[in-house]
Amino acid sequence: MDHTIKAYKALLQAFVGAGYQFQKFEDYLVSPLAGKVVIMRHDVDEKAENALKMAKVEYDLGVVSTYFFRIVKQSDKPDVIREIASMGHAVGYHYEDLSLAEGDFEKAIESFERNLTYFRQYYPVKVVCMHGSTSSKFDNRLLWERYNLSDYGILGEPYLSLNFDEIFYMTDTGYAWDGGKYAIRDVVVNNHGLHFHSTKQVVECIKSESFPKQSMILAHTLWSDNLLQWVWLHARELLRNNVKRTARKNGIVAKAYNGLVKLYWK
Ligand SMILES: [Zn+2]
Repeated sequence: MDHTIKAYKALLQAFVGAGYQFQKFEDYLVSPLAGKVVIMRHDVDEKAENALKMAKVEYDLGVVSTYFFRIVKQSDKPDVIREIASMGHAVGYHYEDLSLAEGDFEKAIESFERNLTYFRQYYPVKVVCMHGSTSSKFDNRLLWERYNLSDYGILGEPYLSLNFDEIFYMTDTGYAWDGGKYAIRDVVVNNHGLHFHSTKQVVECIKSESFPKQSMILAHTLWSDNLLQWVWLHARELLRNNVKRTARKNGIVAKAYNGLVKLYWK
């Protein structure tokens, strides 16, 4: 079984065993480590309790990472945020202000600032990362065509601050390391000639020393050892991937899907 806490632990152990260091995104922006580095990133879209489980596994292995929290109730769990920060991990803001404000830039930057201040009561947030908001027509990153991240004390945003030609980018979107094809906004062109499906393949690549020296890995917080949850989440992702694919060609399906997504996050 892939995408379990056990599989996640095996992935981290492979990196540690192969001599990789883990660096928080905010630290990498200021003074990037040379040599083998992994910038581990978690977008906590939902299931914040799972984030805690993943954070503990990391903590036990001496690994640091960055958890990006959303302002929605499925993600914004103060106790979880506090505990994750206390383990030495970094906390970032997974912003979606422009899509929530339906494209109103002034409203969006106001809520961005307010939400940032809110998260800063738990951790001195220095990095942000857009939420894809696939059901919205507004790309949250557009905010930075009008405003400056640095005016809000922000050091960086993965999609704007990193060169993914140099840093290998890997995401578990759609429950597979090659599931990026289902993503709509989280799209990064892969010029590294490496493609993985399962975590086992990634582990083998690390062990054979052919994994890139520098990478950013996005692991959502849907990795679970709870069998029932695992089955349910996999079925849901499979359905979601199919609906997303159909929605691209069919406007009615797209509309229905977007309406349901909005309802879910309300
Ligand atoms: Zn997200």
